[in-house]
Amino acid sequence: MNVIDASDLTRTYVTGEVSVTALKGVDIAVPEGDFVAIMGPSGSGKSTTMNLLGCLDRPTSGSYKLDGVEVSGMSADQLAEIRNQKIGFVFQGFNLLARTTAMENVELPLLYREKEIPSKERRQRCKDALQSVGLGHRLDHVPTQLSGGEQQRVAIARALVTRPSLLLADEPTGNLDSRTSVEVMRIFQELNEEQNITVLLVTHEPDIAQFAKRIITFKDGRIKSDLTVKERLVAKQVLLNMVDEDE
Ligand code: ADP
Ligand code: MG
Repeated sequence: MNVIDASDLTRTYVTGEVSVTALKGVDIAVPEGDFVAIMGPSGSGKSTTMNLLGCLDRPTSGSYKLDGVEVSGMSADQLAEIRNQKIGFVFQGFNLLARTTAMENVELPLLYREKEIPSKERRQRCKDALQSVGLGHRLDHVPTQLSGGEQQRVAIARALVTRPSLLLADEPTGNLDSRTSVEVMRIFQELNEEQNITVLLVTHEPDIAQFAKRIITFKDGRIKSDLTVKERLVAKQVLLNMVDEDE
């Protein structure tokens, strides 16, 4: 089944007299277990798409089924509920609470479900999530005692702890140096390969996109290309062969 089934999504922003159509009819289907990188120049509609897919915003027109449920017509309250149940977010700036331990930061999204999940199980789930991003030895550290890469891993654990259907990240390595970026991308790759977690992330760095299984490129509010990494390699090889034959 597809986690994401979006068809003909459009989004027009209206501010006063001016309106900007940021998305002009986008189709995206993402099966469970996929790992997608979204690329494209600034202003091409990447964040708008992520906001729609993350149920932070509603399309002007089009259909969006998340886990088989049509969400495009839902109210803000219903969207918040779906978001909390089904989506884990990772942001460029980590968005961790200062003076709050890794464990407590990861526990936050579970506190909405305080009655549902007993505190002992909550703590166990936070520990498991932190272990799955390689931070089992940093449970009681606060953000200032952690490196940038470690902080982003805490944020990934926080996104995972609710067991979402979908992990969404907008430029998750944008504030990290290149070595730390690779470390964080390996975590996404491991979560995807070992736990079959569906990942969709935005990046403007081609090297970062290579960690994904599939790359969707946006241009001017539309999808310009949508290729698996394998297809890209084949296409590249064909081009190289053509150059060889010309010589
Ligand atoms: P990207 O993330 O690819 O840089 P965005 O999705 O943020 O692109 O923006 C796409 C277009 O929509 C841009 O022209 C941008 O200026 C416009 N836009 C984005 N958000 C808003 C908004 N809240 N109000 C008005 N225009 C917006
Ligand atoms: Mg953006």
